Amino acid sequence: MRLLAPLALLLALLLGVTAAQVRRAGSKKTSAPPKPASKVAKAPEAAETNGSESARTVVCIDPGHPSEVASGRNVQNGTSEAHVDWVVATKLREALEARGYEVVLTKSAEEELVRNKDRALVANRARAALMIRLHCDASAERGFAVYYPDRKGRAKDGTVGPGPEVIEESRRAAEAVHAGLVEGLKGALNDNGVRTDYQTKVGRDQGGALTGSIFSEVPVVTIEMVVLSDAADAEFIKAEEGQRRMAEAIADGVARFIAPERVVSPRKSK
Ligand SMILES: [Zn+2]
Repeated sequence: MRLLAPLALLLALLLGVTAAQVRRAGSKKTSAPPKPASKVAKAPEAAETNGSESARTVVCIDPGHPSEVASGRNVQNGTSEAHVDWVVATKLREALEARGYEVVLTKSAEEELVRNKDRALVANRARAALMIRLHCDASAERGFAVYYPDRKGRAKDGTVGPGPEVIEESRRAAEAVHAGLVEGLKGALNDNGVRTDYQTKVGRDQGGALTGSIFSEVPVVTIEMVVLSDAADAEFIKAEEGQRRMAEAIADGVARFIAPERVVSPRKSK
C-alpha cells in the first residue's frame, strides 16, 4: 500500500501533463474557443457546492489513555490499557476506512496525553456522526460492555451536557455497536450488555455523564472492550487476531448505526 501511493501520484502527474499538452495542442490545431476547457476545470467545484451527491460519514475514534484522570500505563497481565486502546484504535481506523468512512483520531501517538474535554472537542470540530471511546476495564467481571450517556451530567467547570438529541442518538448508537460486538465476538468474550455513564463511578459523581459525554455535541459511546485484569480477556486482546476481531466487530456495529456515506440533500442555487 505504501508503494502504491507514490506510484499513483506519479501516474496522475504524468497523465495531468499529457492531458495539458493534448489540450494545448488541440486548441492550436482546431482553434477551439477556451470555454469548454474552463467548464471542465470547474466541474468538481460545482458538484461539491450543489451537493446532490453523497458525503463521507466521519467517525471519531478516541483511544482512551493517557488522560488527565489516568495514564492507563500500569501493566496488567503483560500489557497496559493505553497500549491496547491505541492498537485497537489503529486497527479500527483501517476497518472503518475499508468500509468507506472518514476517520478522525483524538491523538496521533500512543503516548500523547489528551484531556477528556479536548477529546470531545475533536469529535465536535470534525462534526463526527459518532464518537467511539475505547477503554479496557479492571474489575471482577470479564468481557465487554458498551456505555452511553442517558442523562446530563455536570463537569468540574460547571458545564452541563450532553443535550437531549445526543442522549437519544447515543442510546441508538450504543445498541447498534453492542449488536456488532455480540455477533463478532461470540464465543470469545463475555457480553455485559449496554450500560449507561451513570453506572460508572465518574459518571455518577458528575450527576450521570462522563466528561467526554458532557462536552460531546455528537453521539458518543464508550466501549470497555475487555477486562484487562482478567487473564483470559488479556490473552484475547494481546493477540493480533483478537485485536483485529475486536476492530471488525466494532466497525460492523458502526455500520448498523450509520452508513459510510450520507446523501447530501440538494440545495437550491443561490
Ligand atoms: Zn480507561
